[in-house]
Amino acid sequence: MSAIDSPLDQRPVNSLKGAGPRVAERLLRLGIRTVQDLLFHLPLRYQDRSRLSPLAALCPGIETWVEGQVLDAGISAGRRRSLKVWLGPVDLPTGEMAFGQGLLLRFFHFSAQQAAAFRPGERLYCYGEVRQGPQSLEMIHPEYRFQRGDPSPLSAHLTPVYPSTEGLSQRQWWALTEQALVLLERWPLAELLPPEVLAPLGLPGLNDALKFIHRPSLGTPLAELAEGRHPAIRRLAFEELVAQQASLRRLRRAAHTLAAPVLVGDGRLVGGLRASLPFQLTAAQERVIAEISADLKQPRPMRRLLQGDVGSGKTILAALAALQVVESGHQAALMAPTELLAEQHQRNLSQWLAPLGIAPVLLAGRHKGREREARRQAIASGEAQIVVGTHALIQEDVVFRGLGLIIIDEQHRFGVHQRLKLREKGRTQGLHPHQLIMTATPIPRSLAMTLYADLDLSVIDERPPGRTPVITRAVPDTRRDEVIERVRLACLSGRQAYWVCTLIEESEVLECQAAEETARELQARLQGVRAGLVHGRLKAQERDAVMGEFAAGRLDLLVATTVIEVGVDIPNASLMIIENPERLGLAQLHQLRGRVGRGAVESYCLLLYHPPLSEIARERLAIIRNLTDGFAIAERDLAMRGAGEVLGTRQSGVLQLRIAQPLRDQPLVAPAQRAADVLLDRYPEFVTPLIDRWLGEREHDGGV
Ligand code: ADP
Ligand code: MG
Repeated sequence: MSAIDSPLDQRPVNSLKGAGPRVAERLLRLGIRTVQDLLFHLPLRYQDRSRLSPLAALCPGIETWVEGQVLDAGISAGRRRSLKVWLGPVDLPTGEMAFGQGLLLRFFHFSAQQAAAFRPGERLYCYGEVRQGPQSLEMIHPEYRFQRGDPSPLSAHLTPVYPSTEGLSQRQWWALTEQALVLLERWPLAELLPPEVLAPLGLPGLNDALKFIHRPSLGTPLAELAEGRHPAIRRLAFEELVAQQASLRRLRRAAHTLAAPVLVGDGRLVGGLRASLPFQLTAAQERVIAEISADLKQPRPMRRLLQGDVGSGKTILAALAALQVVESGHQAALMAPTELLAEQHQRNLSQWLAPLGIAPVLLAGRHKGREREARRQAIASGEAQIVVGTHALIQEDVVFRGLGLIIIDEQHRFGVHQRLKLREKGRTQGLHPHQLIMTATPIPRSLAMTLYADLDLSVIDERPPGRTPVITRAVPDTRRDEVIERVRLACLSGRQAYWVCTLIEESEVLECQAAEETARELQARLQGVRAGLVHGRLKAQERDAVMGEFAAGRLDLLVATTVIEVGVDIPNASLMIIENPERLGLAQLHQLRGRVGRGAVESYCLLLYHPPLSEIARERLAIIRNLTDGFAIAERDLAMRGAGEVLGTRQSGVLQLRIAQPLRDQPLVAPAQRAADVLLDRYPEFVTPLIDRWLGEREHDGGV
């Protein structure tokens, strides 16, 4: 690839001046190995350091260079030891300054040597933010340099501020990028986007864009840069999107050449299950199962993402798909992210399938020794026609037999590699299993297009009938007593309730303790109410037992941590209290709330928040209160927070964009898809260099 790319993609950063081993190691922390990586490390924002403001013209709030002479300097003991330096205009003879007219520089960290250097009469340049101090205008910890014949520090371009890491100063970044830009002049990066792609969009060439972004000319509107509207930034974002789309499309094309078992089925089992269901599939479910069924009959592997809001009824579709596979003499596997969920699937599937003489086999982490061995063998021999499990399914020694379909539930909870591993396991005699990936994370279609360009998309956009939307209210925790009363009433009138405890700390231990405490408190206050507790530190069996009791209606109240977030389905539960909702993401709140509103009774979700709420928290709770549609919530969430967070960090491996932001750069997505096709069809020699440049070793497998 270096045949057409510049050597800068090979040249290590430590070849630059000032990049010794320590600095190189810090750069590596940010993923920067080569000079090209450095050039793709874009500034966070910019400063205008082109002007020198006269001392007399300063006002609070501006960031600027000033020039002055030291009038006086001293260390004050005060509340906090600090070095104070009084600065006056350079053209005023010392002594003629009125008190309060000059600028006070304050330093809290300084050496004796530093302090001694501020001798009266010394002239210096300072850069910093001007603030109103108690006696005069001040700069706290400004950058400064003594004049002593040095040239003016005024910058001829906007000054970049780079995202950094501990131990790397902006000054170091400037020195490094300065050298990188000189090298770029000599060895420009290869232009991998043909003019026919770039010209209609009016975007600049790659090298010009990079030069501009690192050293924008004065007068460039800062907002255009900050909001990514400037053509130079759009150019880079566009190229990255093209690389991503090309990678996904190439995978998709490759996948189309793979062979998969043709699973036509005879309809006997599918028909049997349909006939025994106590409900009718919704039109949306019918449409989606038809799409899946048709895919399974193809000789190439299905790669389908099934999106459906919480409670939209994805599990039954998984069961129907699995039966078509079994009818065709193959095995189907369903992998869920938690034991709780795997066990629930196991229960549901067993109930549905027992009359058909099919017994799904569960394999989870808690199965050990002989029990595990027996299950493992049933899977390996094919005796287990349907396998349900957690990550345990991808362990080394688990072998499948004629695996025709892999179903992944709640795909956002899995890493790419885990899914890949299962797929690899399913490969037999050159045949690849079909894949159905289910998610309740309502990824907005715009984002889904970017992320999953290589998958076919099915959406269940309709709820099963007879569901009333959950009524959601925000209640300050000063009214906790009333809320507890409400729980009592609900439970004593035969309904069931969830009480969800959350903590901001990423500590499962603390969260579990909080839940234990709450359970004790509620049990003490709610005589006659049968309460249970589940949290992540209970053994799976204990948790399962409690969930089972709750599901069977032998418990009225379930106190829980967010472990119940995913997929738990108990229709009689119609009240949910969520503590500290302001600490959860909108998608997570929506998922939690989806545990209620599954039956015919009116359901309520009370968000017990701790006042005062910040502006943003208020806005977010309002969104969750007013919207019940997961897709609408996700769109708003995305608008407020950006893509990475909506999907959670677990999404890693899929959403690895450096510069492009799917929401901000939405208008570029469709052109990027077209451009990717142009490249694949007409400039195939550019595709690999482009993907290497942007995705490098992170090139994902398309998510499946
Ligand atoms: P999710 O899509 O969140 O995984 P589930 O598959 O758990 O949802 O389904 C939620 C509940 O709705 C289950 O009790 C399921 O049996 C039920 N259900 C599914 N489809 C229908 C339907 N068409 N009519 C009525 N109930 C349905
Ligand atoms: Mg589910």
